[in-house]
Formats: sequence, structure tokens, C-alpha cells
Amino acid sequence: MTTPENTPVRSTTPRQVRPATEGWSQKKDDAGRPLLQFASPKKGMPPAHLADMTPKERAEKLSELGFPAFRAKQLEKHYFTHYTSDPTTMTDLPAVGREELVGGMLPPLLTEVRRLETDRGDTIKFLWKLHDGALVESVLMRYTGRITLCVSSQAGCGMNCPFCATGQAGLTRNMSAAEIVDQVVRANRLIAEGGLGDPRRVGHEDERVTNIVFMGMGEPLANYKRLMQAIRTMVDKDHGLGMSARGITVSTVGLVPAIKKLSDEDIPVTFALSLHAPDDVLRDELIPVNSRWKVDEALDAAREYFDKTGRRVSIEYALIKDMNDHGWRADLLADKLNERGRGWVHVNPIPLNPTPGSIWTASDVSVQNEFVRRLNDAGIPTTLRDTRGKEIDGACGQLVATEDDVAAYGA
Ligand code: SAH
Repeated sequence: MTTPENTPVRSTTPRQVRPATEGWSQKKDDAGRPLLQFASPKKGMPPAHLADMTPKERAEKLSELGFPAFRAKQLEKHYFTHYTSDPTTMTDLPAVGREELVGGMLPPLLTEVRRLETDRGDTIKFLWKLHDGALVESVLMRYTGRITLCVSSQAGCGMNCPFCATGQAGLTRNMSAAEIVDQVVRANRLIAEGGLGDPRRVGHEDERVTNIVFMGMGEPLANYKRLMQAIRTMVDKDHGLGMSARGITVSTVGLVPAIKKLSDEDIPVTFALSLHAPDDVLRDELIPVNSRWKVDEALDAAREYFDKTGRRVSIEYALIKDMNDHGWRADLLADKLNERGRGWVHVNPIPLNPTPGSIWTASDVSVQNEFVRRLNDAGIPTTLRDTRGKEIDGACGQLVATEDDVAAYGA
């Protein structure tokens, strides 16, 4: 096609911003690639707690301590139903040896060091100090008909995603199963005490956390064994919190072998893949673990999760202005999902939340809407994620115990 000389040629190449960091430097490995830390330092793990143990192990531990096995049931009731680890309230236990029993089975794990609340009081961010001084956060959110807790699975994170604040400081250590569970128990205690507005009754029961999202600090699948022990405890009706598995969402950058393992578990949790780009060129830079497992491998594993569990999976996609929000990327994502069948997946785009030192911003609203429209038109159910807690730095990707926090409360 010819263009008259006096007509300016409009560039049709969309702007492409490349991932880069500003204000902090990304750790690199010997080959100059973003460092991935899969292994956690062994040091710093807390003392064993009831929630780290299977029911059988609880009985064994009790007999080691010189107590009868039936005490486990009483302790479980105090901890999972009354949300307490305080021996002075446990008057059904013999006074003699009570402190030793409770201290041995329910050692304190999380010390609350700060609590931030939104003005409406429906979102609360906790900063917890672990026994070794490591700091983690969880975010409690009340919605109509459900209460969601966003929990951390590691102190820090080794996945090094340049747009997520948690990754910037690297991995401190894995959290124990009980440290993960205790975030829920402590949130439930707060709700019962009226800390999230007046406690309401749901049917015959007191209101409590109904949904868990593993979207706080850490990569849950890099802490697989403890993650699964925590989840088993959350869903166990007789010896745990008795939550519904479908209310628990495990979110991952895409550790493919671990996704496969998760598909073979007997607990059908909701599975979410943090994709953020449908093409390897961009995803290699945005999600460093893409150097190990590519977009197609991660999507195949997600599809397999659906096949094995029947649970529709969710694709997370942070919309970053001029980086990954192009129309062609929405189309490519739709193609890649449709290639793998219909009805197995939905997409959850979320406007990027600002992180310290980041030069990127969320996509314009019109671009967000266009991205969503293209996916929906292609038959992929897509809903923009409501983002909560931005004003208290409690939104996705903003959870980081800052240097100031460490100075004020850390080890
Ligand atoms: N490591 C896990 C879980 C923690 S992050 C994972 O990556 O899935 C939870 C979600 O928040 C992920 O989808 C993550 O990509 C997203 N996220 C991280 N930083 C963000 C930011 N700055 N804005 C919006 N979402 C972000």
C-alpha cells in the first residue's frame, strides 16, 4: 500500500516497556540470570507444635512428654475451636503439669507487632514476628458472605519477580506448617473478639475465616511438605479447623513438578497460576522461574490439575502499563487457553499495585477493560480482581516487612 507523501505514517508498533528494576538491584546467579532460591536455610525453624503433627504424631509426642494420648483431643479443641494457647484458660486439664503440657504442644509461634486497618475496618494487615525474629504478614478481608485471609508461606521469597516487593529481599526461611496455620487461628481469635466488626453468627456457628489464599509472602510450592501439612490441618474436621478445601487457593509462579504433585493429592484445593505473560520472551524477564518451566509447560500442568481434580483453575495476570497489557497478548493468552480445551480455566487480571522503587504502573482503565473484553469475547471467563488493602500496603505484591520494620521489631 502506498502512502501519500504528506500523510504522516502512524506507528502501529505498540509501546513495549521491558522489565527493569530501579531503586534496588535484583540478585543474580553466577551466569548473570536472576537468582532463584529453592532451598531454604534450615536454621530458625520454630519448636514443633501440634499443628505440625499428624494426629498419630500428636499422640506419640504426648506420650514422650508423659501425658495420655486423649489430651490431644482437648488441646485440639482449645486451639482449633477456641483459638487459644493460653494454659490459664484450660481448666479441663489437670493443674499439675498443665503449663508443661501446653508449652510442649502449643508453643507460642507468632508475636503480633503491628496491626493496620483500613478506614472501613473491613481489611486488616498483621505484621507477625516469628520466634527467630523473622517478620511475615497476613491480610484479613471481610466480603459479603465470606472472610478471606491472605497467608504467608515463607519469610521472604526466593522467586525474585521484579514487580513484587516480597521478592526483593530474597528468602529468609520456610515457615513451619504450624506458623502457617497459626495465622488463621490468630485471625479467627480476632474475629471472635470483635476485631473485624461485630462478630456475626453464620447458622449455628460463630463467624470465622472461610477462605484462605496463599498469596501472602512466599512461594507456597517451594515449601511443599509444610504447605500440605498446613492444608491438611486446615481441612481436617476432627483434628483441625474443618475448613472447605475449595475455599483454599494455592497460588504459584509455576513450579511444574510441584503442581503435578499437588494434582495427585486427595485435597481438591483451588489452584492459581501467576502467569502475567503468555509469551516466553516477556515471561522470562517477568517471572524468573520461567527459565526452568516455560509458559506452555506451566499451562499444561494447570490443565492437568483441572483434569485430575475437576476444579477450575485460575490464571493471575497483573496488568502492567505497556509491559504485558497489549491486545495481542490478550488474544495470545486466549488462544493458548482455548487450545487446551473449554471450561477449565478463568482469568483474573489485577491492576499492578505499586511497590517501592518500581518504575511501572497499572494499565490505564480503558486498556484493562479492553484486555478483559478480548478474553471474554474469546470465550474465556475473565473478571478483574478487586484489589484490597492498597492504602495499608496490604495488597498483592506489597507484602514486605520493610527495613524500617526490621529495625523496629526484627531480630
Ligand atoms: N508466590 C506466589 C504467591 C504470592 S503472590 C505467586 O507468585 O503466585 C500472590 C499474587 O500477587 C501473585 O499472582 C503475584 O504475581 C501477584 N503480585 C505480585 N506482585 C504484585 C503487584 N505488585 N501487583 C499486583 N499483583 C502482584
